[in-house]
Amino acid sequence: MIDIRDKVKCSGCSACYNACPVTAIEMVEDNEGFLYPQIDLEKCVRCNLCEKVCPYINAPVLSNDLEKCYTAYNTDEKEREISSSGGIFILLAKEIISCGGVVFGSIYDEEFMAIHSYTDSEKDLDIFVGSKYMQSKIGHVYTEAKKYLSDGRRVLFVGTACQIGGLKGFLMNDYPNLICVDFICLGVPSPRVWKDYLRTYFNNEIIEYVNFKNKKLGWHSFSLNIKTNKKNFCRNGRQTYFFSGYFKQLYSRPSCSNCLFKGDDRISDITISDCWGYSHIAPEMDDNKGLSSIECHTVKGLELFDAIKRSVCWKESSIDDVKKYNSNYWLSAEMGKDREAFWEDYNRLPKKKLFRKYCSPERPSLFRRLKGIVKHVLGR
Ligand SMILES: Cc1cc2nc3c(=O)[nH]c(=O)nc-3n(C[C@H](O)[C@H](O)[C@H](O)COP(=O)(O)OP(=O)(O)OC[C@H]3O[C@@H](n4cnc5c(N)ncnc54)[C@H](O)[C@@H]3O)c2cc1C
Repeated sequence: MIDIRDKVKCSGCSACYNACPVTAIEMVEDNEGFLYPQIDLEKCVRCNLCEKVCPYINAPVLSNDLEKCYTAYNTDEKEREISSSGGIFILLAKEIISCGGVVFGSIYDEEFMAIHSYTDSEKDLDIFVGSKYMQSKIGHVYTEAKKYLSDGRRVLFVGTACQIGGLKGFLMNDYPNLICVDFICLGVPSPRVWKDYLRTYFNNEIIEYVNFKNKKLGWHSFSLNIKTNKKNFCRNGRQTYFFSGYFKQLYSRPSCSNCLFKGDDRISDITISDCWGYSHIAPEMDDNKGLSSIECHTVKGLELFDAIKRSVCWKESSIDDVKKYNSNYWLSAEMGKDREAFWEDYNRLPKKKLFRKYCSPERPSLFRRLKGIVKHVLGR
């Protein structure tokens, strides 16, 4: 039976939780706010299914039928604006729904925490759009996905590669009607830190809207936008405590430093990401409104991308360029040097003091500041 001794070897994918036939497994939050399986030994029937579905115990099968890469953006301005990158996800989702399929992805719950959910209605897709920068809670969605797959419906499952690894581990069989999309991932931040960030800086306010990657100041320097009943906070993401601490790798999940899903062989049919390196890869396509890289790893993935080509502006690109400008494609997160100290102080310090001590944004160099001013003046 599953027994997590080394946190680096559990991504919290919840395959074991979904697979347990006697509901003996609970996903329990640790002090960092990440979920880990906990077994009720009285309920457990020692079937070992939890171990059989675990991607960390049984190395996942990673393989590519092919490797076709594109740089692209959605030509619908509105859809692109609300998306974090080039707005490719919403097109893939609409295509699946138009063929009678079901789409799984991450949405916010009533407290603006990320949870996985699903829909077969195009009008609900808006709530799935956009990156939520924390680990999204899987709950029982693998079980729901399996039901739809067994009924013969097409299922598009979008999530981190470790969540797709969990889904495939849980399913155990190949389903031709399943298509999986992951994204290049820097690591999943702690939901607890996000919750405390909101409590600290938006205390006694009703949160009405969150967009981690608002494009008001452009996609190159995205903004964190939080609307409450009292204010409309919108600030360059890199200048916020939340993103600054994330980029310093103070609170990504420990297993992100040991990701099983990086590199050339992938678990998904398609990988999407920001097209960082736009000025080298596709300067003619970059208008600072969001540009995506799309890597199709299977025939299924390529066929789905072909089906949305009529709605995107695209060009072929090379995987070497993606890897060159987006190292998170193949490198696991390197935990920050202050990570341990941050968590030691977490319950000791008042949160404002904690964020100020560890998560203060680095001031851009004089050269960068001058460059910004010149760009701003020329832009005007
Ligand atoms: C935690 C995290 C780390 C990322 N790291 C990188 C990176 O290092 N480099 C890079 O190029 N891109 C990264 N991205 C991906 C990028 O921000 C875009 O989401 C991606 O390019 C897709 O953009 P889009 O415009 O096509 O779709 P969007 O409309 O932005 O759709 C995003 C899709 O991802 C799903 N999703 C959102 N948040 C989560 C979550 N927390 N867990 C699981 N699924 C989620 C949504 O359901 C939706 O299906 C990251 C995203 C997240 C959530």
